[in-house]
Amino acid sequence: MRVDDCIFCKIARGEIPSATIYEDGDFRVILDLGPASKGHALILPKEHFKDLCEADSVVAAKILPLAGRVGQAMKTELGASGFNVVQNNGESAGQTVFHLHVHVIPRYEGGPAMVGWTPGTVDAEELDETAERIRKGL
Ligand code: 5GP
Ligand code: ZN
Repeated sequence: MRVDDCIFCKIARGEIPSATIYEDGDFRVILDLGPASKGHALILPKEHFKDLCEADSVVAAKILPLAGRVGQAMKTELGASGFNVVQNNGESAGQTVFHLHVHVIPRYEGGPAMVGWTPGTVDAEELDETAERIRKGL
């Protein structure tokens, strides 16, 4: 996709209006238009990276501390009791907008479970073999 056609580039540059909760030289943080819960935010780098694998490591390193600040503000200002930090890479992982972004999803006492999975099973041999394969790629 051309960066010119990227909706999150346009939002990050301020060409498309958004409910912005934070902005600095590297990021714009906006509220998601299809929120999983009240206050669901998206951290958008201003520079276009398709996903985390393409991201500049200096920019990427700033994301988690920012997510922590946003989550803390959700707790103090919205009464959230916790928050999830979610980041999808690739269609199979649920990524629908191919401009790196990080979801910060506030969670409220008694609210529905939203981010989770059913634990599977694995034996020791498979665990070792899988670990070895991933190690090779690092
Ligand atoms: P993904 O599935 O790619 O991780 O997340 C994309 C998110 O962007 C979705 O939660 C969706 O609701 C949100 N989204 C898509 N288009 C827009 C938009 O134009 N403005 C805002 N604020 N959020 C958007
Ligand atoms: Zn973009």
